Amino acid sequence: MLGPRQSLSPFSLVELLVVIGIMAILMSILLPVTTKIRENGRRVACSANLRQLGTAMHLYMQEYDQSMCPHDDADSGNPEWRWDTIYLNLAPYYSDNHDILKCPKDRSWTRPASGATGRWWSYGFNHACGYGGAMMTTDFVDPPGTAVFFDSDESDGGVEDDGNRPYQNIASKAYRRHLQGLNVMFFDGHVQWRRPSSLTNAQFTLAQD
Ligand SMILES: [Zn+2]
Repeated sequence: MLGPRQSLSPFSLVELLVVIGIMAILMSILLPVTTKIRENGRRVACSANLRQLGTAMHLYMQEYDQSMCPHDDADSGNPEWRWDTIYLNLAPYYSDNHDILKCPKDRSWTRPASGATGRWWSYGFNHACGYGGAMMTTDFVDPPGTAVFFDSDESDGGVEDDGNRPYQNIASKAYRRHLQGLNVMFFDGHVQWRRPSSLTNAQFTLAQD
């Protein structure tokens, strides 16, 4: 025969509160872990984009006698050098799949469309690699130590050593998309996640570091 207590719900209020408390603790432990896993996934997807961009760049250079596509964010009037043509020049070499120019953490990216003026690249270009004129493969004397494309939100894509868009700004928040760091593609095609403080000025010149 059941006693008065046994006739009630199998869980008492105290037991229920204990279970809820344990679940809350478990959630507080697991949430940062799952957030970090998700962030890592985005970082890996972004580095895959940059790797494809590097492949496109080298395919372009092979076809253009080892010459890099030039870039001119001052928009000097030379249509071959316009600030957005670096991406247009490379597009045939990444099969016009512009999605590879979108970092998964970049919320301001817009799909390129006829007449659209939005920024359709999540990656900045190191001006030392071809500002206002094309550099040749032989100009890159330190391929693994020369940054080319990297996480950035510059509207004209170019990142240079001047007062407006200095590469030293990499330390600013706009570039730190991934776990307080950014992905950087170097001229030899390898991609690394770097903390801004670990990048040096020499990595933004073509000279041997
Ligand atoms: Zn990214």
